[in-house]
Amino acid sequence: MTESDAGVSPWPLLGPDEPPPVEVVNADGAGSAVLLCDHASHRVPQRLGTLGLDADRLADHIGWDPGAGDVARRLSVHLDAPLVLSGYSRLVIDCNRPLRSAESIAERSAGVPVPGNRGLTPAERAARIDALFRPYHDAIARLLDGRARRPTLLLSIHSFTPVLNGPPRPWHIGVSYGRDRRFAALLLGALARSGEFVVGDNQPYPIEDDIDYTIPVHGEGRGLPAAMIEIRQDGIRTAVDAAAWAARLAEAYRLIEAEALSLSGSSGS
Ligand SMILES: [Zn+2]
Repeated sequence: MTESDAGVSPWPLLGPDEPPPVEVVNADGAGSAVLLCDHASHRVPQRLGTLGLDADRLADHIGWDPGAGDVARRLSVHLDAPLVLSGYSRLVIDCNRPLRSAESIAERSAGVPVPGNRGLTPAERAARIDALFRPYHDAIARLLDGRARRPTLLLSIHSFTPVLNGPPRPWHIGVSYGRDRRFAALLLGALARSGEFVVGDNQPYPIEDDIDYTIPVHGEGRGLPAAMIEIRQDGIRTAVDAAAWAARLAEAYRLIEAEALSLSGSSGS
């Protein structure tokens, strides 16, 4: 199925009293950073119930990135940065997966079957795309269009579970990149400077066109320096811890900001 024959949604997925699919914070922020949070919420549209999962499961890491939104909001304040957050669970539709990906609307996530995602019709798929995926990415595109003449560095903020199908993951934080490592390399250096933290270089996840959507489309597609930040979830469980990581990220960003901005518009590949 291509993106253009995905079907026409017959009804709106979100009721009139439900939260919007996207939240834009500090849209007119004067800083050079634009922050994105693809997996900020584990909310599911009322119309879809709980996707056949326990509420506990939905609130677990398969449903969202715990703590990521909290860190992103605090970082937005530090850097006076606009921030765009997705309002619904990645299990309804994952805003960081290409629509062609089997993980866009995952029938299994980290080994857990998602009953509400099995056997969807093209119209049911289209309803999720129209109600959630498109508004989120349209909001990002509008924001970036509106500041096309201003130097911009793009950061998406995620969190990862400390253990996934294997031994504990050693990284406290990771910085991931696609074709152009230069902006990420600056951040990696700044975050590793204190020697306090294990910093993943393209770990725990690299950015790949078949798996990722946000950075390839909004960053690489526009020639903006862009990187994905992944913070280990046990390091941001409390507000105090989230605030500490936001402050560290802000400090690292400021250290490398001028040099990173000089990368804008120059090809690194
Ligand atoms: Zn994520």
